[in-house]
Amino acid sequence: MYLFDIEGHEFAVKPMNCPYHILIFMSQVAKYRSRVPLPFKIFEFGRVHRYEPSGSIYGLLRVRGFTQDDAHIITPGENAKEIVLSVFEEMKMLLEELFRLPVNKETLKARLSAADPNEIGKEFMGTVEEWRGAEAALEGAAKVINERYGIDYTIGVGEAAFYGPKIDFIMVVEEAGHRKEWQMGTIQFDFNLPRRFRLYQLVKDVYGIDEVYIIHRALLGSVERFLGAYLEHYRGRLPFVLAPIQFAILAIKTGDEKIDREILGVAKHVKEELKKKGFRVGLKESNKTGLSGDVRIIESTVKPAVLVYVGAREVKESSLEVRPYILDDRRRSKLKISFDDVQDAVNALEELARGFEEPAIKLAGQAPRIPGDYSHAL
Ligand code: ZN
Repeated sequence: MYLFDIEGHEFAVKPMNCPYHILIFMSQVAKYRSRVPLPFKIFEFGRVHRYEPSGSIYGLLRVRGFTQDDAHIITPGENAKEIVLSVFEEMKMLLEELFRLPVNKETLKARLSAADPNEIGKEFMGTVEEWRGAEAALEGAAKVINERYGIDYTIGVGEAAFYGPKIDFIMVVEEAGHRKEWQMGTIQFDFNLPRRFRLYQLVKDVYGIDEVYIIHRALLGSVERFLGAYLEHYRGRLPFVLAPIQFAILAIKTGDEKIDREILGVAKHVKEELKKKGFRVGLKESNKTGLSGDVRIIESTVKPAVLVYVGAREVKESSLEVRPYILDDRRRSKLKISFDDVQDAVNALEELARGFEEPAIKLAGQAPRIPGDYSHAL
């Protein structure tokens, strides 16, 4: 932790979000009593700071300040298994729909950490009933996940933290013969915090419930570390919805003033119209001899989701050459859009974009339009 002495008082930079979430729950219950529904769920992109020795800091993978996609769920025991399952489904949807990472038995495994039953009450705090209920919820959910998706799980007896059992999801990525493992979502039960905050008594008084759990959950864990691993995995390529430049338009000039005017006319029209529709667009003026060099620079820096070529042939044929990057194939495909009116071409590009946005639309109800003008990057 980072600690400061300020006028004789000890201050610290927040290292975790959990206590604040529990305090919010307790203050809500103090105000509204049992009208606060259980299970109670609270989430934030919580910025936390941990002191890491300078020698261990590494890119985005190990940093001193990071953001957790952090939630806490306070639930009656009878809902615990369903909660674990729903957290898994949420993680699966996020990885598949937004990040385009398939979740199946080849790419994901689950690791359940349980107590050594002889050490409950000693090395592992809490009661036998608490551990039994929580571990049953975790294992029950792991079984359903296995039945539904074939995802395997292992149980590490004695590997739990002292405060409760957990399940971790590990992404297994095969790359150039190397097997890499990413720590993804985690769901952890906690028998320590409810005691420290006297939560059991409060819930019993207000709700009349004996068995209640606090569950920590993160889907990506550290957002920075996830992005670091993710950028490595796709070598800086991002799916359409996340790409800083979604459309990079290349105007390939010829030196002939009249033709170049037409080329730039089409390129600028397409750029402006796509921009109006909320896409992140860049325009690069190039020429025949410089084109391959320009493309090489753009591909190694900006890595746009879609390249659009406008040259003399395209203007003559009323067409665009369009090259979307296909993440799964790790290469660009090539297609031709013919048009009567330039506006038709814009509509066709929007249609193409909608296809790429489709998974994310399923996730959020609409494609996230991240504002920002990165066109100077070209
Ligand atoms: Zn927590």
